Amino acid sequence: METLEADSGAHPAPGRFICRFAPSPNGPLHLGHAFSALVNHDAARRCGGTYLVRMEDVDATRCRPEFADAILDDLAFIGAPPDAPPRRQSAHMADYAAALARLEAMGLVYPAFESRAEIARAVAARAAAGTAPARDPDGVALTPFAREGLSDAERARRRAAGEPHVLRLHMAAAIAAAGGPLAWREAQGLPEGPAAHVPADPEAWGDVILARRDVPTSYHLSVVVDDAAQDITHVIRGEDLFQATAVHVLLQRLLGLPQPVYHHHRLIRDETGAKLSKSNGSAGLAALRAAGVTPAELRRRLGLQPMPTT
Ligand code: GLU
Repeated sequence: METLEADSGAHPAPGRFICRFAPSPNGPLHLGHAFSALVNHDAARRCGGTYLVRMEDVDATRCRPEFADAILDDLAFIGAPPDAPPRRQSAHMADYAAALARLEAMGLVYPAFESRAEIARAVAARAAAGTAPARDPDGVALTPFAREGLSDAERARRRAAGEPHVLRLHMAAAIAAAGGPLAWREAQGLPEGPAAHVPADPEAWGDVILARRDVPTSYHLSVVVDDAAQDITHVIRGEDLFQATAVHVLLQRLLGLPQPVYHHHRLIRDETGAKLSKSNGSAGLAALRAAGVTPAELRRRLGLQPMPTT
């Protein structure tokens, strides 16, 4: 990464600072979430900015209102309650549909009819034959079913006939439509500090899914729509989402949305060095609270400075 001189994106006005913690209410919070919420909260407090919370609850099969309530309760406990009522993505499905429609109108979206199981079988068969498909930056195999395998007319016919499908971004066309190099600004310090210029490589993600039948949007699509709708100037989140930013800046460019500054923070890991998950009982905030751990002790364990007083 090199220090940024200039780039083409629209950026927040200097001095404005609005960040967000965006949990998915599909389980209880753990130490890693607490860290992310506190890093956001503290950065906003240090510069007189605004700290928002967004419930990423588009997946109705996994997200539950009681988890959202428990998350807000945990955030209050750790001293990081949001500055405004949280935005719930499930209340904004029409916004995601509108963004999807714009991308479709640009000819950048196509229906794909292979089920998850079919894709998994095809990936396994190719791996066995020594021609395993490439993997995305998260290590997930890209679909072996190429867009070219079916004509546009045939896709349209099957879609009109009501066949189950997902909607994918035609990545090559999307990159071409973006019309030039993509990059983002990665803040090296919070709330202020120099930013690095990170070239974005969305191609590595393949034809990402933008909408499914059961969930008619996706993480990638809703996150960029919401960051713009909430006027987010600084996206502060775990480094496990660093590579996904390439997809986000591509979608921002295509949809004409402003580009926030990003900061990807270190992850909190368990004793074995593994990433925490929702099922990590011992690192769960509920268990720590039950064990009498205080918010100040929690901050110490997370390597955070005492709570900013401003
Ligand atoms: N909802 C995502 C998660 O819980 C975070 C999204 C983001 O911060 O961009 O991992």
